[in-house]
Amino acid sequence: LNARSEAPTIFDKIIAKEILSSIVYEDEKVLAFRDINPQAPVHVLIIPKFRDGLTTLAKAEARHGDILGHLLCASKIVAEKEGILDGFRVVINNGPGACQSVYHLHLHVLGGRQLKWPPG
Ligand code: 5GP
Repeated sequence: LNARSEAPTIFDKIIAKEILSSIVYEDEKVLAFRDINPQAPVHVLIIPKFRDGLTTLAKAEARHGDILGHLLCASKIVAEKEGILDGFRVVINNGPGACQSVYHLHLHVLGGRQLKWPPG
């Protein structure tokens, strides 16, 4: 692992509630909170509370199956809470080529407007 992938991120402070965020959903495994720079009327980030090596989805291994499934199920709960079940998108940006900026795995849940495809 390189230095960047070992480094804590701003999301650790959000999990610890040292930095305030607008929490939409939380359970023992994940935290969902509003993106500070929303790209749609609903833009929620869902993160594992324990990163366990998942700086990015590219680091996923068999042991991560449970948390990855849990994150995806949480995205449905968030979409339901936000009233966007009829049109929402779940995105994971992976690495510099996809403009990932925080190296703690996170799902973006986007909705509340017509979403275009392809996204660009
Ligand atoms: P990425 O570009 O890595 O896929 O997504 C990181 C996201 O984290 C960005 O959409 C960015 O706006 C969001 N973000 C970065 N710092 C903070 C913060 O301190 N609070 C919140 N709520 N979102 C943040």
